[in-house]
Amino acid sequence: MKTTLKTDITIREICNGFQYNELEEKGLFGWGGKLTIQPEYQRNYIYAEHNKEIPVIDSILKGYPLGLIYFNKAGENHFEVLDGQQRITSIGRFITNKFAIKDDNGMHQYFEGLAPELREKILDTKLLIYICEGTEPEIKEWFKTINIAGIPLNQQEINNAVFSGPFVTLAKQEFSNSKNSNIIKWRAYLQGNVKRQDYLEKALEWVSKGEIVKYMSINRYKDDISELKDYFNTVIEWVSTTFIDVKSDMKGRDWGRLYETYKNQPYSPQEVSKLVNKLYADPYVDDRKGIFEYILGGLKDHKLLNVRLFDEATKRTVYENQTQKATKKGISNCSYCAIGHDSNKTRIWSYTDMDADHVTAWSKGGATDIKNCEMLCKTHNRAKGNR
Ligand SMILES: [Zn+2]
Repeated sequence: MKTTLKTDITIREICNGFQYNELEEKGLFGWGGKLTIQPEYQRNYIYAEHNKEIPVIDSILKGYPLGLIYFNKAGENHFEVLDGQQRITSIGRFITNKFAIKDDNGMHQYFEGLAPELREKILDTKLLIYICEGTEPEIKEWFKTINIAGIPLNQQEINNAVFSGPFVTLAKQEFSNSKNSNIIKWRAYLQGNVKRQDYLEKALEWVSKGEIVKYMSINRYKDDISELKDYFNTVIEWVSTTFIDVKSDMKGRDWGRLYETYKNQPYSPQEVSKLVNKLYADPYVDDRKGIFEYILGGLKDHKLLNVRLFDEATKRTVYENQTQKATKKGISNCSYCAIGHDSNKTRIWSYTDMDADHVTAWSKGGATDIKNCEMLCKTHNRAKGNR
């Protein structure tokens, strides 16, 4: 790979013909048409939402360095920004009056309102640009490396870069586009940031059953994302019809896996709704995130709910009571041992050899309070828990 360092290209030149697409939130072209600011494998413009565009302009006005910018020479008279797209877009947006900075008096100033010498200062600022020429794999490998600085690319952003092509382009239009009105609905079930590719990652994970890289590689050159889209929509549709109440804990559940596991089970949405609300109101349910899978699985796996356990004081009190009574009667302080026929019949277990048990199971309405607490030896406690 060949690289050339350019130190004489000005902001005026780079921003000549700057275009920003509001709809796609992308800086598009510059340098009089020679420069593609956002190739497909670049992330969307995120400086605006991170409040990083004003500091870029402040740095220029103070004469601070903006850091290296990398271009890829993609053709005789065609360059793509490999790294620096966020900075160039910030500058381009400022000089096209898309946002204002604060001057020394705290007043908002757009580019067109700045004193002429400040405007000239910005336009005459020279950028440090590395121009790289190489094969696509070389450039991509290198792109992964240089982006470790700044906001690092996440795994899906790297996958988008590595498998750039028509499939990723279409998939991003659907799943990484914050203007897509479906996102309001999806947001109830998905976690993360649309622009950082978190929704696209979920969609790919679901359709590929976790094999994202394989799936992206197979589909890379297809200009059809209907399988991805249909599967995703089917999962969302299934969740939203099964659970008619939207709860905040639904966000980020593993809906793809749950759909695959339970899609053939019939559920009554009204019954499901009653159960959801009952469990939400249950003070012993510690993990509400597990409620949905617990219901789907037929109310069997209590571990999903992390049902609240007896506290130390309760266990101690119950232990002392049981042990005193048992000692008087000359029987074991574990009621199960006491009715047995082996040598444990009369055994007094130490506190650390026993565990607390719900006399009436939590799932049958038993409370986690002292009246429903019994200490059992560890063996019997385990045996009872497994019934
Ligand atoms: Zn026992």
